[in-house]
Amino acid sequence: MQILKNVMDQVIKRNPDEPEFHQAALEVLESLEPVAERNPHWVRAGIFDRIVEPERQIFFRVPWVDDQGTVHVNRGFRIQFNSAIGPYKGGIRLHPSVNASILKFLGFEQVFKNSLTGLPIGGGKGGSDFDPKGKSDGEVMRFCQSFMTELYRHIGENTDIPAGDIGTGAREIGFMYGQYKRIKNNFTGVLTGKGLTWGGSLARTEATGYGLCYFMEEALRAKGKSFKDATVVISGSGNVAVYAAIKTSELGGKVVALSDSNGYIYDPQGINIDTVRKIKEVERKRINEYVKYHPGASYTEGCAGIWTVKCDIALPSATQNEIDEESATALVSNGCYAVGEGANMPSTPGAIRVFLKNGVIFGPAKAANAGGVATSALEMAQNSMRYSWSFEEVDAKLKSIMVGIYKAASSAADEYGYQGNLCAGANIAGFLKVADAMYSQGI
Ligand code: GLU
Repeated sequence: MQILKNVMDQVIKRNPDEPEFHQAALEVLESLEPVAERNPHWVRAGIFDRIVEPERQIFFRVPWVDDQGTVHVNRGFRIQFNSAIGPYKGGIRLHPSVNASILKFLGFEQVFKNSLTGLPIGGGKGGSDFDPKGKSDGEVMRFCQSFMTELYRHIGENTDIPAGDIGTGAREIGFMYGQYKRIKNNFTGVLTGKGLTWGGSLARTEATGYGLCYFMEEALRAKGKSFKDATVVISGSGNVAVYAAIKTSELGGKVVALSDSNGYIYDPQGINIDTVRKIKEVERKRINEYVKYHPGASYTEGCAGIWTVKCDIALPSATQNEIDEESATALVSNGCYAVGEGANMPSTPGAIRVFLKNGVIFGPAKAANAGGVATSALEMAQNSMRYSWSFEEVDAKLKSIMVGIYKAASSAADEYGYQGNLCAGANIAGFLKVADAMYSQGI
């Protein structure tokens, strides 16, 4: 890196102790070097310096009372990263690991991802270090209400539109939406991922997992391959993993492993997804329960082991940095030829190097998992029209958006000297639109 080295130095200096944010910024800036070379007017206008600095960061206190009457205090965040091409858009992560570094990396990635969808949405992210695991419905509701009691003043259907992410599903979005409406007396599309009876979009729940498969289908097709008869390993067992597994089976692939944060299940017969959904979504239990219902399957404690399971295609859909260099090497040496990122930044820089060096078809997160936020933007469009499209209509739009993202990423890669590198291509294609908008809007 030459032209953009100063920008990266500034990111490190201004954001000490934020390794995830440094990692995401470095990955993008490295690939933008040829863009900087060709666009000195963007360098002079400080586009690169500005794009790594969030427009606004909001940190707030979230007090709530548990079922025993004890008061707890969590920290709430909203990072409004970039609104050059549309209102801030991005999920809310509820997980004990949440901090400024994680939300800044996610907000930064979201800027490029949202641009890639071709829809008019800027990038943001929010969340809290609250852990919904093991909490009662009442406790989760009181937390969500308290969180929204502060957040409501910073968001709006034309300002910032939060959605789900790890720990925030339909239940949490419902509690947050109820509180927003109570405070503002305003029924708008301020959140996405809403329930179908109150403004949600058909196919939003399925969108990230389905979109991941549509993207990978396109990337595989370009290399003469497909999901048909492929053995597939998917990490995670949340919304992304479950619908990626369902679509994989529809496309003729066999999913043999899934995981949660404690360990992974392996079923050589192919995972029965109905059982997984019953355990995770209805009973809210751990994935090891699966072996009680399917004695031919096995459960292994610990997460990294899932990458030693032999497969053709891997779809990491759990969390950031879940595949390191060692796991990537294990995948490649067992014959894995395609990796599609369902989670945000699940591969470390070392892992990405292993994949690219070995010619693995690699679908980077900001392109491959953009189907969720794209369908959120379709939900916003339906809310604005006070209308709703059928499942088939939304699904068809999602599919054409994912094909469009693949084409945009692969042609940007070709144009800027990164042939076959969808990672660099996605960064560049996402960046160009945002940079153009920022330049036009002045400093
Ligand atoms: N959290 C999802 C993501 O990482 C979806 C965001 C949204 O729908 O706004 O893209």
